[in-house]
Amino acid sequence: MKVLVVNAGSSSIKYQVVDMTNESVLAQGLVDRVGIPGTTLEHKPEGKDKVLIKKDLPDHTAGMKLVLEVLVNPEYGVIKDMSEIGAVGHRVVHGGEDFAESVVIDDKVKKVIKDCFDIAPLHNPPNLMGIDACQELMPNVKHVAVFDTAFHQTMEPSNFLYALPYEVYEKYRVRRYGFHGTSHFYVSHRAAEMLGKPFDQCKIITLHLGNGASMAAIKDGKVMDTTMGFTPLEGLVMGTRSGDIDPAIVFFLMDKLALNTTEANNYFNKKAGMLGLSGVSNDLRDILEAAESGNERAKIALDVYYNRVKGYIGNYMAKLNGCDCIVFTAGVGENGIDIRENVCADLDYLGIKMDVEKNKVRGKEVDVATADSKVRIFIIPTNEELVIARDTYRLAQ
Ligand code: ADP
Repeated sequence: MKVLVVNAGSSSIKYQVVDMTNESVLAQGLVDRVGIPGTTLEHKPEGKDKVLIKKDLPDHTAGMKLVLEVLVNPEYGVIKDMSEIGAVGHRVVHGGEDFAESVVIDDKVKKVIKDCFDIAPLHNPPNLMGIDACQELMPNVKHVAVFDTAFHQTMEPSNFLYALPYEVYEKYRVRRYGFHGTSHFYVSHRAAEMLGKPFDQCKIITLHLGNGASMAAIKDGKVMDTTMGFTPLEGLVMGTRSGDIDPAIVFFLMDKLALNTTEANNYFNKKAGMLGLSGVSNDLRDILEAAESGNERAKIALDVYYNRVKGYIGNYMAKLNGCDCIVFTAGVGENGIDIRENVCADLDYLGIKMDVEKNKVRGKEVDVATADSKVRIFIIPTNEELVIARDTYRLAQ
């Protein structure tokens, strides 16, 4: 069976076609600027050149229609006709407390995705638009929802509750949910395989360091804690998100900068983090380069970044009572040699010792700890699409 994996954002649609007989990716692509003038579709069939199509598209249905046309195109398509697609897997950011695993989409599931609009206003509405568009165009196959929050649903109240009046949890579902669950799931399972231990007997700390970034503490096959919270704003310092701050700063700056709630939300999500601190960029490559050439703010921004990650490693080491391995993944985690080295520096008291020579590697599955390190240090390229494709395949059968 071939599975179509769809990740629909507010103005973009990412897709992959995966052949489940050998889990190979037949094609992948991105429709960008959906509903905005200047829409483009970039399509990369396996073993062939990239194709770029420019065509203004008004909405997600038009975007998906173009994707399906491209997939069956005789020149650069990868299937003869749509009947080869046996199921569609959709990335959905928020499943609230209703879904601890992936599900076949029916009206009830769509209602839950909709019920989560108020707690995931940026993500769930476009995710549902993507589902509606695909269901309209492919009504005869199963559609599966794979939630970013699902893997974290094993957290206990002691880790997911905030110290707020209990009623706001009951009434408004204010609690820690955690995100990037599909990535933490994938890399923690691979880490268990690399350790040669059953997943449900491992203690693992996963570091998903991309433009958005989060960490998770995983014990006995369950997520114990994670750094992102009610929204993806909490936790680590990210490209443009502040991560942890004193919440009183929000009220203070709303007053000083005359921000309304939407503007304040935008400020802490889009103008803060490494971009705000360094004044250089949200991209760590630019900040590393600036620091190298003597930019003091860039240097300080990096130190804040390292400090926060180290702090959470210590936090999770304490909660897990030690761990078997830490895992670096996503853009920064897979490629940021200096970043990994600085994060792991001076953690030998915790049993974390990096071999800095072995660490000089990018995008490879590898153990970069010294032979005598108590804790293994893995780099594992993430593969969220594969998790979505596998769940979709399993549930479609
Ligand atoms: P997201 O999916 O959250 O958009 P990615 O996981 O694709 O992010 O990561 C993108 C980030 O990876 C970039 O913003 C950049 O900072 C970082 N990155 C990529 N390559 C390197 C590198 N060689 N060194 C440091 N950071 C890197």
